[in-house]
Amino acid sequence: MGRPKRRRLGQNFLVDRDVAKRIAALLADDPPRVLEIGPGRGALTEPLLERFDRVLALEIDEPLAAQLSRSFVGRGLELRHADALSIDLDSLLAAESPWQAASNLPYSVGTAILRRLLPRHDLFTRIVVMLQSEVARRVVAEPAGSGHGLLALERAAYADARLLFEVPARSFRPPPKVVSSVLQLDLRRPEHTADELSAAFSLAAGALTRPRKVLTNALARGVEVDRIEVAGLDPSARPGTVPLEGWVRLAAVLQESHKSVDGGV
Ligand code: SAM
Repeated sequence: MGRPKRRRLGQNFLVDRDVAKRIAALLADDPPRVLEIGPGRGALTEPLLERFDRVLALEIDEPLAAQLSRSFVGRGLELRHADALSIDLDSLLAAESPWQAASNLPYSVGTAILRRLLPRHDLFTRIVVMLQSEVARRVVAEPAGSGHGLLALERAAYADARLLFEVPARSFRPPPKVVSSVLQLDLRRPEHTADELSAAFSLAAGALTRPRKVLTNALARGVEVDRIEVAGLDPSARPGTVPLEGWVRLAAVLQESHKSVDGGV
């Protein structure tokens, strides 16, 4: 297999069976259905099949998927040659939901796949993933902590997370240039509506592109200091210190102000 393809698809295969077993063991007994994303050569698929009767796997690489279905023939694996970023998750999973999900996520698209799964508490109860340690730390970051940004805000909206253990590069073939970490995410129904969250995320995303500025300067022009204070935030705080609830409140205050300006004289 050519190097560019391997890199593009994040194909660093796990060769440490104990790590694969530890990941599989982090799933709950119930629900007894698991979606595996990117089974590759089946390192994680093996212990998943030992624990669960129903394992459905999505693999984007066709030759790899064909090889995998040959090696697991008769073992009950349901394998789809599909892109986890674009497959219709509702048609695939809703009829039997909820599921759990497990993956040694490809580095190239790991964050995008995680972002796709996180809001789906209707489909998933628990997600156990391995990803680049630096990204995993950003997922669990707390306000004011290092790496607290949009990914941490999204996680806070949708899941409780535990950073569990690191996996060294030597546990993979070929070894990646980075250390990996395993995360457990327990999805829950968000406390805010989809509209509230979307307004909060877009406000935060803008301000977080200017992380060193204080809120007054990090926010788009036209946001008055008193609006920030009405939202219960400190105008001199840095964007990375603001928790999800702060962004939700600020977005609501700004929407109210726009309404009264639009509806005013
Ligand atoms: N689970 C295997 C293991 O632990 O050894 C393979 C992990 S490897 C890091 C990532 C796997 O995800 C590769 O098999 C790759 O082909 C697959 N992959 C990459 N992008 C994907 C996508 N968008 N949808 C489904 N699978 C994908």
